[in-house]
Amino acid sequence: LGPTVCVGEILVEIVATTVGDGFLEAQPLVGPFASGAPAIFISQCGRLGGKAAMVGAVGDDDFGRVNTDRLKRDGVDVSTISIDPDYPTGSAFVRYRKDGSRDFVYNIATSAAARFGWSQAVGDLINRSGHLHVMGSALSVPSAREVIDKAVDIVKVRGGTLSVDPNIRKELKLDEQTERRFSKLVAAADLLLPSGEELERAAGVEGEAEAIRRLFEMGVKEIVLKRGADGATYFGRQGDRIDAPAFVVQEVDPTGAGDCFGGAYLTCRRLGMSPQQALTYGSAAGARNVTVLGPMEGAGTQQELDAFIASTERRP
Ligand code: ADP
Repeated sequence: LGPTVCVGEILVEIVATTVGDGFLEAQPLVGPFASGAPAIFISQCGRLGGKAAMVGAVGDDDFGRVNTDRLKRDGVDVSTISIDPDYPTGSAFVRYRKDGSRDFVYNIATSAAARFGWSQAVGDLINRSGHLHVMGSALSVPSAREVIDKAVDIVKVRGGTLSVDPNIRKELKLDEQTERRFSKLVAAADLLLPSGEELERAAGVEGEAEAIRRLFEMGVKEIVLKRGADGATYFGRQGDRIDAPAFVVQEVDPTGAGDCFGGAYLTCRRLGMSPQQALTYGSAAGARNVTVLGPMEGAGTQQELDAFIASTERRP
């Protein structure tokens, strides 16, 4: 039933090669790497051979072409990525600190990434799509919000499915209207992909078991909780649960793990695999991606993930 569509920000990421605090001194940098959480997700869908399309915008510049060329190579339909003649492609400069946290310098709000909207081409795509993937954080971007609101309604009416990565920090207070939108989006999710504390944030209650119960009550169909190097857990509506141990890898760059995991899990489910099988591919995609510098450089094809699974230990 039609391609998987992801709506949201497309960026390049430029990474400091030294570890430390911020950018107050000149740093050796590497990049640009194709990035933006929704773009990473759809890249992994395309690489795994699922039909995939992206809605967003880039500037008419090399940073934009880094993204569109990359997604095209991954098999993603990029015809609904618009090219903004007036604003540059979004960017994020990133430097890791010793404790693993990151300092960022962003240009998203005044970039092409925040300026795309509904168009005839977007409408045509949504009208033939089978699945929509949305990040909660996109609800704070007015243009993305408008597209997402419309797209969710159309896809649902068509009998398509929706996955949601809440992607909103526990402490973040949204204004009342955005909070209501967020709850509605979560409740409409056929698949919810929270990581860590986002589970409780999305449910609006404390405690893992209570949050799972509440989310199913709200209407969510399937939940996969991502726990970084501690693995991931599937929760089904019948009270079933599957714990997937993480693969043992040397982490080089944690950015993008959750989106690669989600893109692989969703694509496997859409291709008819069981939650157990999809968890294995999701875990492999997330783990493989952290072994390489760049937010989506480690996203894998089926062949690459099979080779990774066959050659990599899993945590006990
Ligand atoms: P997010 O980026 O959304 O916070 P996670 O960091 O939890 O998501 O990563 C998603 C999945 O990728 C994890 O559930 C795990 O399977 C895999 N993963 C992430 N980091 C590692 C790691 N250091 N070692 C092994 N697997 C990892």
